[in-house]
Amino acid sequence: MKSRWVDSDAQAAVDHYGRLGVGNDVALRVYTTRLLGQDPQLVLHGGGNTSVKTRMSDLVGEETEVLCVKGSGADMGTIEPAALPAVRLAPLRKLRALDALADDELVRIQRANLIDPMAPNPSVEVLLHAFVPHTFVDHTHASAVLSLIDQPNGAELATEVYNGRMGFVPYVTPGFGLAKTAAAVYEAKRDVEGLILHKHGIFTFGASAREAYERMIEMVTRAEERLARRSNSVFVGRDLPERIAAYSEVAPVLRGACSLKDPLVGGAWRRLILDFRTSSAILNYVNGTDIARYSQAGVVTPDHAIWTKNWPLIVPAPEDGKLADFERDARAAARAYVESYAAYFDRNNARHRGRKRSLDPLPRVILVPGLGLIGLGRSKRDARVAADLAEAALKVVTDAEAIGRFESIGEADMFDMEYWSLEQAKLGAEPDKPLTGQVVVITGAGGVIGAATAREFAGAGAEVGLFDIDERAAMTRAREIGGAAMAVKCDVGDVASVRAAFVRVVEAFGGVDIVVSNAGLAWMGLIGEVDEAVLRQSFEVNFYGHQRVAQSAVKVMKQQGTGGCLLFNVSKQAINPGPRFGPYGLPKAATLFLVRQYALDYGHIGIRANAVNADRVRSGLLNDDMIAQRSAARGVSERDYMAGNLLGREVTAEDVAQAFLHQALELKTTADVTTVDGGNIAAALR
Ligand SMILES: [Zn+2]
Repeated sequence: MKSRWVDSDAQAAVDHYGRLGVGNDVALRVYTTRLLGQDPQLVLHGGGNTSVKTRMSDLVGEETEVLCVKGSGADMGTIEPAALPAVRLAPLRKLRALDALADDELVRIQRANLIDPMAPNPSVEVLLHAFVPHTFVDHTHASAVLSLIDQPNGAELATEVYNGRMGFVPYVTPGFGLAKTAAAVYEAKRDVEGLILHKHGIFTFGASAREAYERMIEMVTRAEERLARRSNSVFVGRDLPERIAAYSEVAPVLRGACSLKDPLVGGAWRRLILDFRTSSAILNYVNGTDIARYSQAGVVTPDHAIWTKNWPLIVPAPEDGKLADFERDARAAARAYVESYAAYFDRNNARHRGRKRSLDPLPRVILVPGLGLIGLGRSKRDARVAADLAEAALKVVTDAEAIGRFESIGEADMFDMEYWSLEQAKLGAEPDKPLTGQVVVITGAGGVIGAATAREFAGAGAEVGLFDIDERAAMTRAREIGGAAMAVKCDVGDVASVRAAFVRVVEAFGGVDIVVSNAGLAWMGLIGEVDEAVLRQSFEVNFYGHQRVAQSAVKVMKQQGTGGCLLFNVSKQAINPGPRFGPYGLPKAATLFLVRQYALDYGHIGIRANAVNADRVRSGLLNDDMIAQRSAARGVSERDYMAGNLLGREVTAEDVAQAFLHQALELKTTADVTTVDGGNIAAALR
């Protein structure tokens, strides 16, 4: 590992932040914190922290000694000075004299001593930074260091590699106790350049930002060099089926197996989003004969527990053509995981006199021999974090096993970290939205109604796949939504295109829960004279298109086994035909009965089917030219034409989108047709 310090870059940071009124110490602290945070071998997803001791004026202009320490959960790779809250140093140092300090008390004291009362909470490791005297203190969970010290003889290995230059701190749960122990280790040998925290990570000290940073790089490099002298060949591969099933076949099965039925609300499930990874290193790990030992040994650093849980779920290798066997075994494995998590919780909660509340017992990482690893989370973002950390952990374990045997902290320590209130606070207190954890596909999403629907469902917390024959239009809409919204090219007139689009969305999110089958095209003509080819063309899109989409969705929903929801845009034409609109209205009428058939055939497995019949919505079908023509044909103004309904109100794409969302949330409603037309008695259903 090489130092990435560049004098001119450091000076540029000093100049840039100086213009914003930030002192040199903090500017350089930001510069090297970013250097550390941008290297995934050192730090991932809010892990690690840094600090600088300096002087600054408080709000009333009095100069005081402060500790600027990374805010809890902040990302080091993109940090700004505001994410390094300044805390008065003297009161923090005083805490050293206490025998014990409760977490909530520590948080109160920190907040009472912030220079800016609006600043974020300092890192959970703030006291360790305060109790050592060095100006600059850097802390990472560097992979190479973890591979070296996550061993039964970690202390010996650290002595061998660092030869007295680093203090060695035996494992202590992060927080007040660790800060005191670490300070005592430092004081026993004041010339150490940093500390190795057994089964946790590494701290380096410096009088300057550069010194602390370059010590980190040097100490990690020493660990890397030791790992390069590996003695064991790791992970003997085991026999796997000759042909492994595709991930797109396996994912919905696993997603269903890792869902929880809501005991209180019929038809409601707690669902997760999946993120799949594979590589030769991952396959080497998941295909190893000894996977049940090394993968279940625990976390590589305690900070991972809140994202990955302490143990991944292992399922059998999915043999191609034998998915029913795989499903049975995977479901049994997931059930056993949930039971074992509940037992782990009860065992350890008893130690806390029953004061903790269980998190959901579902796994956050799945290892699939023959395929790879999967991260799971309540959103695509969370699933990616879990997968990133699992991939990093897998490398740590692989390298640890190459020089010895990977060993983690004990179960009680893992529990205390997973259920530490200050760690849980990093996940944020944002409540789930109505569709958090669900995957929604919208066809015709490049158009006006489809795009409004995609926005509505994304706003309700769902991950959305925007299908459209016009991929660029779908991409534009997906970009507007942001996050993990995904554009997929899909021609509903072509069965192969529809199937391929569903494979892509399943690969991206793990499955599908709700489909809004919205794509349509208008054809006009007198029914007695229309060319049969035109009528067939319209049926291809406006009937078979819906059937193809629904069929592909049902296949995935059945694999998941958690019900689902099919929603169709049937238009007012399905009920109240317009003159010369037969070629459009007839397939829509057939689609209305398609909705009822799906409701009838799949209600018993929890799949609902509903429709919206909207009328006169300004869109790609009813564009400005068409509005001009239709209103002229009726001899009314465009405004009166658009609001020509009982309520006298123009219906918008957002109104249609809200009707779809409403149907998606009504868990006890199927075979329903919701009218969104401002009132048209001739199109009323009864
Ligand atoms: Zn740490």
